[in-house]
Amino acid sequence: MKNIAVLGSTGSIGRNTLEVVRNLNRNGFPVSVKYISANSNVELLSQQIEEFKPKAAVIFNETSFEDLKSRSLNHKCEILCGQAGINEIASRDDFELVVNALVGFSGLIPTIEAIKHGKDIALANKESLVVAGELIYSMLRESKSHLLPIDSEHSAILQCLQGEPIAEVSRLILTASGGPFRELSKEEMNSVTVAQALKHPNWVMGNKITIDSATLMNKGFEIIEAKWLFNIEAENIDVLIHPQSIIHSMVEFTDGSVKAQLGVPDMKVPIQYALTYPGRIKSDFPRIDFKQLKNLTFDEPDLEKFECLKLAYDVIKSGGSYPIVLNGANEAAIDLFLKEKIRFTDIPALIKSAMDKHENHVSPSLENIVSIDSWSRKFVYDSATELV
Ligand code: NDP
Ligand code: MG
Repeated sequence: MKNIAVLGSTGSIGRNTLEVVRNLNRNGFPVSVKYISANSNVELLSQQIEEFKPKAAVIFNETSFEDLKSRSLNHKCEILCGQAGINEIASRDDFELVVNALVGFSGLIPTIEAIKHGKDIALANKESLVVAGELIYSMLRESKSHLLPIDSEHSAILQCLQGEPIAEVSRLILTASGGPFRELSKEEMNSVTVAQALKHPNWVMGNKITIDSATLMNKGFEIIEAKWLFNIEAENIDVLIHPQSIIHSMVEFTDGSVKAQLGVPDMKVPIQYALTYPGRIKSDFPRIDFKQLKNLTFDEPDLEKFECLKLAYDVIKSGGSYPIVLNGANEAAIDLFLKEKIRFTDIPALIKSAMDKHENHVSPSLENIVSIDSWSRKFVYDSATELV
């Protein structure tokens, strides 16, 4: 029996994780969900409590906490609130693995808490590695925790690397769909609407990552994520636009051979692999019908058009605390874009001005990371007030 906690259980990855748990339990790989968490979706969290019967549920929003406590559910479990609630469950010894499906910076402290308590982590929250990759890896060296990627590209790479010594890898090739604006001109991107940006061609995901996929910031984050996960220099990580999202990523070896992992775009596959790693369990998730695949195409990303990816490359070069600014400024800019306060193309402009103002810190501590994150957000909100 595998005992797990699912943080962000009401989100897109969280709901897919629970679907995977149902599949595993049907197929002889018993998983028990001991803890779940949400920000404010009391309705769905209540249904999940009834179905999965966890020991405790954590809810971040205080009003929602009162609401959840006042409900008379058939399954009685502890109801905890906020970061204190997460810290409390991280210290319990009745589970081994945390699925971190929180979005943005909110996922960082839970990742750190999980490592402190020696839990394995199935990590969807790539922002943890963007802002604190160095700190997380120095903590992992002292801990019995293992980090397993949920992100489809990184899961693909992990699958390609099975049985292969890392010293024989020459390049990682991350594929990217190119998002909904792949074929627009830079000029046309000025006037795209929130609804258009939220319409991803291949994947159904939470709003934040859907916007990151439209700006290609997501791919920039994924280069940083891959660099930490696989201990590979960013110069040896390439990005290829592959609009069909069938090849999820590839590894090229020193002898010139390339391995790729393929599948339909469905996050349940990489989530399940993270839970069953290094083994596999049967599923009835959708399969590729190769006869229906007309062509698989590959192209270079256009860094002039997708300035967020260019900014991510700049940050990878400068290192230190710049990735924290990239992430914090990006979260604030996306929030403003979703509220229709700024244009789509203001997102990279605001991030760039935050980066220009920032002075680099080498090897930032957790305290530095938290304060640089707050500064970056405030900088973007203040600058945007001048824009409108
Ligand atoms: P969603 O927005 O769908 O879900 C986020 C989850 O986190 C929800 O449960 C939400 O609760 C909770 N949450 C949101 N804000 C906070 C907060 N401030 N404090 C505590 N909990 C919070 O996101 P996704 O599932 O799309 O993404 C989750 C992570 O996975 C991201 O890092 C993303 O980059 C990564 N990822 C996602 C993929 C996908 O297919 N969706 C693919 C690859 C990576 P509530 O529902 O109550 O708001
Ligand atoms: Mg991805």
